[in-house]
Amino acid sequence: MTTAATTLFGADTTLSDAHIEAFRSSLRGELILRDSAGYETARRVWNGNIDRRPALIVRCTGTADVQHAVNFARTRELLLSLRCGGHSAPGYGTNDGGMVIDMSLMKGIRVDPGSRTVAAQGGVQWREFDHETQAFGLATTGGTVSNTGIAGLTLGGGLGWLMGKHGLTIDNLISADVVTADGQLRTASATENPDLFWALRGGGGNFGAVTSLQYRLYPITETLSGLVIYPLDQGRDVMRFYRDFCATLPDEAEAFAAMLTHDGQPVVAMALGYNGSPEMGEKVLAPARQFGKPIADLVGPMAYGARQTMLDDPLAKHGLHRYWRSAFVDQLSDGLIDEMLKGAAGFSSPLSLMGVFYIHGAAARVPADATAFSARRPTWDFDIIGQWSEAAESNGHIDWVRTLWSRAEPELLGTVYINHMMGDDRPERVRASYGENYARLREVKSVYDPMNLFRVNANIAPT
Ligand SMILES: Cc1cc2nc3c(=O)[nH]c(=O)nc-3n(C[C@H](O)[C@H](O)[C@H](O)COP(=O)(O)OP(=O)(O)OC[C@H]3O[C@@H](n4cnc5c(N)ncnc54)[C@H](O)[C@@H]3O)c2cc1C
Repeated sequence: MTTAATTLFGADTTLSDAHIEAFRSSLRGELILRDSAGYETARRVWNGNIDRRPALIVRCTGTADVQHAVNFARTRELLLSLRCGGHSAPGYGTNDGGMVIDMSLMKGIRVDPGSRTVAAQGGVQWREFDHETQAFGLATTGGTVSNTGIAGLTLGGGLGWLMGKHGLTIDNLISADVVTADGQLRTASATENPDLFWALRGGGGNFGAVTSLQYRLYPITETLSGLVIYPLDQGRDVMRFYRDFCATLPDEAEAFAAMLTHDGQPVVAMALGYNGSPEMGEKVLAPARQFGKPIADLVGPMAYGARQTMLDDPLAKHGLHRYWRSAFVDQLSDGLIDEMLKGAAGFSSPLSLMGVFYIHGAAARVPADATAFSARRPTWDFDIIGQWSEAAESNGHIDWVRTLWSRAEPELLGTVYINHMMGDDRPERVRASYGENYARLREVKSVYDPMNLFRVNANIAPT
């Protein structure tokens, strides 16, 4: 008996039972094959529209398993995916015919309240991370929903509620333990393998399997947060106000905006936050809360943990079908706002949305070449997120995204947050998005992954 698999180069290969069993016996975790119980659940990722069937899923319990899996994949030249939270919209956390290194069982988290640091393993989700750090009243910039994985989100950059004050997630990364393509465990930090550390901060999963990440933490428990929701017919004025309001924000404040469906109606919402004294927060956010005639003003004191989960349900629900397109945009032009309004008026699904996430403050002051993530200026991450529950309806919902995208694209930059790329994005967008950093990223890739073992991602090809 053999197991059919796919190689890095897209060819078919077979693995003998003896090889599979030798590999299985090297693991502490579980090896799941296509005929194993649990395969159907294990192969699934967050985006229900991704329907791939890897040949081997390695559910690692620690660094040794990851090393064995990387060595097995490299020596057999297997197509290889890495998975932490499984949230990659294009489904980079799985593949057809290859191996998945699934680190989602690696949940260790150790907070050191004295030094205000935390070390967390490569399978932790933000809700788990926040649970442990909030026990000490501490936090760092994470995502805007709680079920994304810390590893995938961090390695792409990390946009979140605290970025104005504390920078991107990568700006708070102290070190990472990485199993590189040769199977070696390396620590990357400002003093150890600094080239690898530079590349990991924005370069995604291109450089190895990250088994542990160490972050700086900050005291934060209470925030002033919430949505202000307007009917769509005020949308043009609200969005024009919003873009000007963003330019006034101090580092402590965050303001994102979205068009979505609320109580069966398309609406425009500003998601506001203040990470500082409540009195000052009231003052800073007042102009936004006093603007126009909202349907609802839900802004109020909110525990940090509650804010981290505020957008989870139903928008970030596991298993919905998704298709999204994204780009950075430095100006929310009147034309873009109008296209967004047309898109919202014609939502094909009540679960779909458009969002703009403002990057500013500490996140925007880091020099563009200090980390691999190069979009270091006040800018918006613009997203059209198609979501629906019925597989049979996919074409119609994908068409809605593509039509809106084709109208909006002329108003957008040709660069994108690499964590928001879709599988059908052109490879040139990866290069464009890294800008001046791309050549250096290729050099680092050539040192640590010359055969491009880690290629199921926004790929940086070795030189
Ligand atoms: C609902 C939703 C909300 C989001 N909100 C935000 C947000 O607020 N801010 C933000 O910045 N991003 C956000 N994202 C994007 C998110 O950062 C990416 O989807 C990210 O890839 C998710 O990480 P993951 O570990 O869950 O993904 P996975 O699918 O597990 O992994 C995706 C890729 O990340 C890399 N990777 C994952 N784990 C490891 C590891 N241990 N070692 C090395 N590489 C690894 C690999 O290349 C892998 O293929 C959001 C995504 C979704 C779906």
